Amino acid sequence: MKAKILIVDDEPNNHLVYERILAPLNLDFVKALSGQEALDVAHKYNFFLILMDVQMPGMDGFETASLIIEDPKTSHIPIIFITDFSRDESLELRGYASGAVDFMVKPVNDDILRSKVKVFLSLSNERIQLKSALFIIQTSEERFRTLFEKSNDGIFIIDSDNHCYLDANKSAIEITGRSLTELQSLTCSEIFSEDITRGFDSITQSLPTKDFGAISFTRKDQKLRSARFNVIYLDDGTLVGIARDITDEQHMQLQLRRTQKMDAVGQLTGGIAHDFNNILGIILGNIELIQGQISEDDNIAKKIENIRKSAKRAADLTGQLLRFSGRQAISVESININDVITQMDTLIGRSVTPQIRIEYFFAEDLWSTSVDPGDLEDVLLNLIINAHDAMNGSGQITIETANYHIDEGFCRLNLGAVTGDYVLLAVSDTGSGIPADLQERLFEPFFTTKEEGKGTGLGLAMVYGFIKRSLGYIKVYSELNIGTTFRVYLPRASNVDNAVQQASLSTNCTSGGGEVILVVDDEAALLELAVETLENLGYNTITASNGEDALDRLQEHPEIQMLFSDVVMPGRLNGYQLAEKACARYPSLSILLTSGFTSKSAISDGQESFKAHLLNKPYAQAEMAGRISQLLSGEKTE
Ligand code: ADP
Ligand code: MG
Repeated sequence: MKAKILIVDDEPNNHLVYERILAPLNLDFVKALSGQEALDVAHKYNFFLILMDVQMPGMDGFETASLIIEDPKTSHIPIIFITDFSRDESLELRGYASGAVDFMVKPVNDDILRSKVKVFLSLSNERIQLKSALFIIQTSEERFRTLFEKSNDGIFIIDSDNHCYLDANKSAIEITGRSLTELQSLTCSEIFSEDITRGFDSITQSLPTKDFGAISFTRKDQKLRSARFNVIYLDDGTLVGIARDITDEQHMQLQLRRTQKMDAVGQLTGGIAHDFNNILGIILGNIELIQGQISEDDNIAKKIENIRKSAKRAADLTGQLLRFSGRQAISVESININDVITQMDTLIGRSVTPQIRIEYFFAEDLWSTSVDPGDLEDVLLNLIINAHDAMNGSGQITIETANYHIDEGFCRLNLGAVTGDYVLLAVSDTGSGIPADLQERLFEPFFTTKEEGKGTGLGLAMVYGFIKRSLGYIKVYSELNIGTTFRVYLPRASNVDNAVQQASLSTNCTSGGGEVILVVDDEAALLELAVETLENLGYNTITASNGEDALDRLQEHPEIQMLFSDVVMPGRLNGYQLAEKACARYPSLSILLTSGFTSKSAISDGQESFKAHLLNKPYAQAEMAGRISQLLSGEKTE
């Protein structure tokens, strides 16, 4: 854009003269033929200079100039007077008095006029540049202020000489829990747990930033937290510290690692235990068959009974491992845990020494939860025995129940928790507490701090498995020498009516009367064992080694009255799916499923509708016989 100059002269020819002289400067000329016209136009444009004739009819140049200079909107425009009169000092002085910056007498020398105008032109250009630079500085200053004030990271301005805080933003105040004035009375080393100021020496102009990594700091409330800290050296000699509180993030990572570790251990344990369980099932089953064939006073009978007992112990241990891996078959019921605890009163009392007081706080109107009541009893006993062991003879155990809603905030802090309504069971003790570094290992199978023979390290592993199976959550709070609280969250039962009452098992061996049972198992030895057992009991059997086979057999043999199938099998159909298909095709067919565990896929695929038809592996013959005769006689538990 061209710079604008205003020429005020009552003689139009003079305008042309000036235009010619100034043409090389490439200006935008605005002309006024009188003082009044000049005043009007002066407001309109931003002129860098006014050339003003002195002698004009009406308002003369001096008067016009004074009015222009008096007006704050136009006062900044420089004015050069050009007059026809010969040099007259008094006139010149009047001109300067009215605010002119120069006074020229006609005829003006072209070069002089051009060079003077050029000076004003460059002055004006510089002013424009300066103004825009100032504007840029102002906005950048504002921008940095906003950045400083609004940043989520804590920003500290630190004096590089004495390492005191000069300024701090809002986040820095929040992170440290201290006011600006409090911060200003402190040095960096008073907040951070290590003397980071030693590291400041290495921050120089040539190496202006330093990452201190994660360092811990103490808040005003004495809470120890962790921050990632960076320091930047500024040219004015100050240091800028940038701190991001990463305590929660670190906590989450720790939780994630712990969960992943537990998952891996669970998978490994579950896999091995599942195979052991099958093997033990074969051993125990065969022993039972042998025991049925020899008389009790046979001299090997005792030895065989010893083998049976040992195998049974191994099966119990395997059961515990399966319970940790969260894969053991479950029979859930909708229960009120207050009732379960109340019924266990004597048992609880007997598991602790009399010097230990037990207090109960039961929530009234406690929601129901769908869990295996037997498992829940074991969980509670384990927690109580641990609490007892932590207390060295005397103290208090508090058992508390409550309704609890897990919200988003809880989930953010507790990895793996899911929002919703839960029933809370809390067991607290006034015992030794658990050191922080051990807390993350508590639930690992075989982790124990108890002396040889006293602890197995399977108690909390079992609790953990139960929590996983029940889709619950568990939290531990512990303070050294003060005590520990285990908080168990169990999902609120969605429908109170879905309670599945497990029919009580008749333990008498009820014999069959030639009914036909289809036995399905992928493990040949187990299949053989089941067949032998069933035939001994008086049933006829047909076998299949997978789901597809089983469907074929059912079609070929309409005389089959019962399907007795393993749950976890290779092939397209697992036991639940097979049961569903078979049920749909042959509604009168009785169904009994057996499993050492229920994998996740099995749970989603129909476990709900068949959970009452489940026989846990390894099963005793009597148990199996009881269930079969019960189902065949029509006492279906649906
Ligand atoms: P065990 O009781 O056989 O050692 P657990 O799995 O039940 O195995 O517990 C593992 C470990 O957790 C215990 O050895 C103990 O160190 C610790 N622990 C569990 N509960 C508590 C508690 N209430 N107070 C202190 N430490 C506990
Ligand atoms: Mg224990």
